Amino acid sequence: LDGVTKVQVAMTAERRPPRIIVVGSGKGGVGKSTFSANLAVALHRAGRKVGLVDADIYGPSQPRLFDCEDVKPTARDQKLVPVSNDFGVPILSMGHLVPPGQAIAWRGPMAGNALGQLIDAHWGDVTDIIVDLPPGTGDVQLSMLQKHKPAGAVIVSTPQDLALMDAVRAISLFEQGKVPVIGLIENMAGYVCPHCGELSDPFGIGGAEAAAKSMSLPFLGRVPLDMTIRRASDAGVPPASGEGLIADAFIGIAARIST
Ligand code: ADP
Repeated sequence: LDGVTKVQVAMTAERRPPRIIVVGSGKGGVGKSTFSANLAVALHRAGRKVGLVDADIYGPSQPRLFDCEDVKPTARDQKLVPVSNDFGVPILSMGHLVPPGQAIAWRGPMAGNALGQLIDAHWGDVTDIIVDLPPGTGDVQLSMLQKHKPAGAVIVSTPQDLALMDAVRAISLFEQGKVPVIGLIENMAGYVCPHCGELSDPFGIGGAEAAAKSMSLPFLGRVPLDMTIRRASDAGVPPASGEGLIADAFIGIAARIST
């Protein structure tokens, strides 16, 4: 082997598989994908080498959230090469494995196989992979627990009871699978009226914090219900890449997760 190849071989041999942090929720629509995207961006801003796997078979949305829907991953040596974007977070999505617009109705083994392709990819120097799970407790979660040994799980919930009850179910799945629950995030907590500045609580506030306390789990922080989050997300610019209170909320939560 020549010198350069020797160095390359040594680097490959030393490279540990990335640490996997899963983001789950009891039900859909609570902002799990939005949070996963912004957590990844916030960790990248903190200097981490972070990748993102969009494992949400029911509604893969990360390519849109990162404005790279038109880019398809390539493959090398039978493994996928993640798609890069303007925000420094390489991504691979279930959406990359099926033609757009096609509903995914996979059986367990197929979902597990697809997840494996996204995780065992050419992640290069990435040290942490954030996995945006589908909502609930289905085949992808089981496959994740059984085959990929996540280092920890973060649970996203809205403050109201129903979402919280579902979140508790998701938490117990991770606990049964011996995956440490890093903590809970309360999303859509409190709404500041852009016109009059009054703070209201459409879904209540504090529910996730109280639930975390009752389960002796860390509460990692809350993200308000804010139109700029929805607008920026729809435009393919994760708000954590900007400045201001919303970016700070994501950055603060990310700091609590990475320590
Ligand atoms: P999930 O992944 O849990 O299904 P999404 O992340 O797709 O949920 O979010 C559902 C919708 O809510 C999206 O349109 C998203 O932009 C919006 N959304 C998420 N969090 C917030 C928030 N804190 N404020 C305003 N809109 C939000």
